[in-house]
Amino acid sequence: MNTIEHYVDGSSFSGSSSKTQPVFNPATGESNLSVRLATTGDVEKAVASAQKAWPAWRKMPALRRARILDRFKNILWERMDELAAAITIEHGKTFDDAKGEVTRGLEVVEFAVGAPTHLKGEFSENVGTGVDTHMIRQPLGVVAGITPFNFPAMVPMWMFPVALATGNCFILKPSERDPSASLLMAQWLTEAGLPDGVFNVVQGDKTAVDALLEHPDVKAISFVGSTPIAKYIHETGVRNGKRVQALGGAKNHMIIMPDADLDMAANALMGAAFGSAGERCMAISVAVPVGEETADRLVQKLLPKIDQLKVGPGMDQESDMGPLVTRQHRDKVKGYIDSGVEEGAKLLVDGRDFAQSKQGYEDGFFVGATLFDNVTQDMKIYKEEIFGPVLSIVRQPDYQSAVELVHGHEYGNGTAIFTRDGDTARNFSQDIEVGMVGVNVPIPVPMAFHSFGGWKASIFGDHAMHGEEGVRFYTRIKTTTTRWPAGHRTQSEFTMPTLG
Ligand code: NAD
Repeated sequence: MNTIEHYVDGSSFSGSSSKTQPVFNPATGESNLSVRLATTGDVEKAVASAQKAWPAWRKMPALRRARILDRFKNILWERMDELAAAITIEHGKTFDDAKGEVTRGLEVVEFAVGAPTHLKGEFSENVGTGVDTHMIRQPLGVVAGITPFNFPAMVPMWMFPVALATGNCFILKPSERDPSASLLMAQWLTEAGLPDGVFNVVQGDKTAVDALLEHPDVKAISFVGSTPIAKYIHETGVRNGKRVQALGGAKNHMIIMPDADLDMAANALMGAAFGSAGERCMAISVAVPVGEETADRLVQKLLPKIDQLKVGPGMDQESDMGPLVTRQHRDKVKGYIDSGVEEGAKLLVDGRDFAQSKQGYEDGFFVGATLFDNVTQDMKIYKEEIFGPVLSIVRQPDYQSAVELVHGHEYGNGTAIFTRDGDTARNFSQDIEVGMVGVNVPIPVPMAFHSFGGWKASIFGDHAMHGEEGVRFYTRIKTTTTRWPAGHRTQSEFTMPTLG
């Protein structure tokens, strides 16, 4: 059985641990691969390598750093299929969806290639007589990223391109469930000319994460994952004096107004609820039709579409939706469907009985698309993030109660409204307490040159990811005030300097 190793100092690194964990192909349910789990000592080696590489990397002209990232970007375009296939085989999502993921990550590399523009700083002439002030942005040092299983290429690329371009060295701790993408990216960065030690990967679990959180040379932590772990990472990292951005879970609502184009809304819901088997932090898991008539018509449009949805292996071009990531996760999602039935929601389409008939895939971790109607606010399937292909319809009588529903939920990652009315759309996008809003756009993931981040229990820390926010997160400002002897007043002054 092959083992996925760490990547330290520009090459594969086995470390000192004999502990490994199987990596599954969720479409077949089989495992012929395992991943090494790092010890604290292995993490220390990676941090030491990054710390050693940092002085030269931070002094390298920003344009030269950008050119290395530009070459990496070209490799990503050329080998997109290889990376996407590695993602599909370990994650389960369809091959086209995996290519979409790589493209969205690659766009952050494109943004990072422009980093010299974002590092220009500020200059003020003559802030006092003969005195000038300038502000520059400097890198933090060694920074780390801890990432979830659902986007094994894109989420790391929300982080490391910006961190590297601004002069930091980076340690990636990817999800242990689909680790191969991290290694491919590390190898391709080296191939693009990145000096050894500037980018390292440590595979592992809580032991590796805690070692990063405790290490005094790790100056900042970027995290994306579930809310309880995000909270833990934020609290522990801040307590240890680190800068932390920790993005958590989600429960995203789509409001469908009576004047919405219902065909457009139903098509959007299908992709947003069932794309990637619902394993997206921006998936729509709650549909909120306003008015009984809107709800009834929406259900009638959704039912035949769900019936036609093709659930199958991600590498099969025919498939619209692949399996869930692990057997345990599939069983958890089925447990949520059981609980929805027990709590009295109306189960219109039951994905629990789905059986994959395709030869060789009978034991894959599949669940069919599931639709609940008449879901209420007190039900577990409404309150908790399911992270599976389960769409809940929560009917509301009017716009105001739909907005209050969204406001009552603990999460605030993404939301959308479908309407033809400009006033309603404008009020919604201005007033809703959610970080990313779509108007007739179901999954409003901001482009790389904007920033990604939710509100409420979907984020801990002050900075969103990539775009200007990413540059701010990975740099600290230094402001220098300069006077030269020609403009100098000669006597000593003991009062606070002012213009007078
Ligand atoms: P997870 O929280 O289980 O794992 C995320 C990372 O944390 C992994 O690298 C994992 O190894 C590590 N980890 C897990 N348990 C840990 C522990 N006890 N101590 C320290 N580290 C630990 O999340 P996941 O299941 O991989 O990903 C799905 C979750 O990620 C969902 O909740 C989803 O909403 C969220 N997510 C959020 C965003 C966002 O932008 N807000 C984006 C993608 C995914």
